[in-house]
Amino acid sequence: MARLIFLGPPGAGKGTQAKILSKKLHIPHISTGDIFRENIKNQTELGKKASEYMNEGLLVPDEVTNDMLKERISRQDCKIGYVLDGYPRTIAQADFLSKISKIDRVINFMLADEEIIKRISGRRTCKTCGTPYNIEFMRPKKTGICDKCLTPLVQRDDEKPEIVKKRLEVYEAQTAPLIEYYQKKKLLVDIDAFPKIEEVALAVEKMI
Ligand code: AMP
Repeated sequence: MARLIFLGPPGAGKGTQAKILSKKLHIPHISTGDIFRENIKNQTELGKKASEYMNEGLLVPDEVTNDMLKERISRQDCKIGYVLDGYPRTIAQADFLSKISKIDRVINFMLADEEIIKRISGRRTCKTCGTPYNIEFMRPKKTGICDKCLTPLVQRDDEKPEIVKKRLEVYEAQTAPLIEYYQKKKLLVDIDAFPKIEEVALAVEKMI
């Protein structure tokens, strides 16, 4: 059983690593950011609510996020475990999660701010399928075009420099306290998120 949390600042590679591990362990990769973006694309009520916060680089309120997460992890495919990517992001979310699920391990992806900014500004996403790319580290086969859907890649609004700065401040103030929270519970392991994707993936695997 592997119920895992990937913790770390935006741009540290949690999503990329969560995708790799979820394939390897055959457990779902649950990204609350992806679920919100999917809702925004489909213009649902939840999407409308979330986009107001996301566009500003702020966190979506805990009640909204917690209800959504609870529904997701109650599904059958989560019975054998899951990788949570981008949740919990506040102490209140972590307390909520502890009431609805046991957690086996928390991987803390560590990366310096300069590197985070460099990585995020290079990110591009497929508007159709959401596949992420990076103009430096994960280039599409054809510049600016998604390998899978052949549609043009875009820069997400919340990946523009002013918003990234805000997201980092929000991370420090609201999410970083979770490091100590999970250290105290003896669930936390640190990972250096700087090396190449494959190297970090190997390090993650060793920690599980
Ligand atoms: P991400 O793709 O994980 O970087 O998330 C993008 C945005 O979605 C964040 O900047 C928040 O606005 C929102 N979001 C994602 N996960 C959460 C969460 N657990 N709590 C609150 N807001 C979230």
